[in-house]
Amino acid sequence: MLFTAPIFFINMAWNMGAFDWLQHAHPKNRRLIELGNKKVIIAGAGLSGLTVGTALAQRGWDVHLLERSSELREIGAGLYTWENGLKVLEEINVFEEACQNVEFITSLNMMDENRELIHSTLFSKGNRFCVIPRKQIHSALVRAARNAGVSIETNACAVSADPSGSLTLDNGRTYKADLVVAADGVYSNIRQSLNIAQTMEKMSNGALRALIPRIEADEKGIAREHWSGYRRIGIAPSTDQFRYVYLTAPSTDVEGLSDPINKEEWISSFPHLESVIERIDQARLDRHFYYIYLHAWSIGRVALLGDAAHGMEPNLGQGAGVSITSALELAKQLEHFDVDTALRRWEGLMKPTAEKTQIWSRIYGSAASNWPKELLHVRSDVIRKAIHSENIESMMSLAARHITGR
Ligand SMILES: Cc1cc2nc3c(=O)[nH]c(=O)nc-3n(C[C@H](O)[C@H](O)[C@H](O)COP(=O)(O)OP(=O)(O)OC[C@H]3O[C@@H](n4cnc5c(N)ncnc54)[C@H](O)[C@@H]3O)c2cc1C
Repeated sequence: MLFTAPIFFINMAWNMGAFDWLQHAHPKNRRLIELGNKKVIIAGAGLSGLTVGTALAQRGWDVHLLERSSELREIGAGLYTWENGLKVLEEINVFEEACQNVEFITSLNMMDENRELIHSTLFSKGNRFCVIPRKQIHSALVRAARNAGVSIETNACAVSADPSGSLTLDNGRTYKADLVVAADGVYSNIRQSLNIAQTMEKMSNGALRALIPRIEADEKGIAREHWSGYRRIGIAPSTDQFRYVYLTAPSTDVEGLSDPINKEEWISSFPHLESVIERIDQARLDRHFYYIYLHAWSIGRVALLGDAAHGMEPNLGQGAGVSITSALELAKQLEHFDVDTALRRWEGLMKPTAEKTQIWSRIYGSAASNWPKELLHVRSDVIRKAIHSENIESMMSLAARHITGR
């Protein structure tokens, strides 16, 4: 009786859920509770790799992150971030830092060459949208990864992975783990080393992008994308100090996609945006974009994540959003299921969202840069009607509504 009574009460308390805190304990503490943590090796410290690394470390995994570059950095200017991406940042506790001084946007307006509205997307509390400076989100993720216990190794260039769960660097060093995640970007070495049916499609559109200083006269809370022929300029508030500007054109538009930017050329297409164009100091140029299509996102113990799995043109501004959503989804599935089951479930949940986003990004890009020249004068009307009647906006914003952990 002396011995059985405590066991009886512990058993009863367990059944009543008194020890649930053990399962839901703060991720850092949970590491102490679990014995024999699972190990993951991740290639690539971009937004996807850092997010999955942080989310897995917060769930008790031992995470080693390999980055090819000598330093951790993010290239580019601003990042369109929608509700899905913002939810991810909240869930892994980086929202405050990533969104510091960021201005939330109430409407995103497509404007035609006559400065008339083609379409307006409105935002609200459960459907947020903003532009985060890339350096800001990246450094917030690096800090979160380190705080969660992720070990990061720079100057580590992955060249291949094996479905048995190993990854090899260019110096011949090999790592073994329960899971390898290839988050090494659109040109992924690891993807190319794997026996997975894959297509890398080079698109003939490019873009310049920059952050420019804000001035008092700048519009607040409103983002606009201006169309003129096959050129587009997007302008959006980012932080209290900066606005984000991107300029897209077909790759054959040599004057439009010059480096450094040919301001006169862009002003000739968008005279009313002269004040914005003149404020561009340095712009980053991408002459081409790529779509990546994979038959499967994983093989054995190797998973492909982010641009490595579903690179897309940035027409909908959702490449990174889908990537970090997918990163959190992967971590959540691995929390509840063994690696094989989790990978299957993750792909089933995420791949349709990524592929539909790719499809709508293509459609948007075609309307912008492949519209028949002789029919350009009716483009605005056609788009206006299409978006209105076919509920296309809802399909284009599918990724923004993706909820992880189902
Ligand atoms: C012009 C443009 C505008 C965009 N705008 C938006 C936007 O507004 N909103 C949005 O959501 N998305 C946008 N995107 C898409 C977004 O940038 C990408 O989807 C996102 O950055 C992908 O992140 P990633 O971590 O998968 O890959 P990457 O950002 O490419 O990161 C890969 C990382 O892996 C490292 N690496 C590469 N090879 C190796 C290797 N062999 N070994 C180890 N490390 C390696 C790289 O150095 C890098 O750090 C845009 C893209 C472009 C081109």
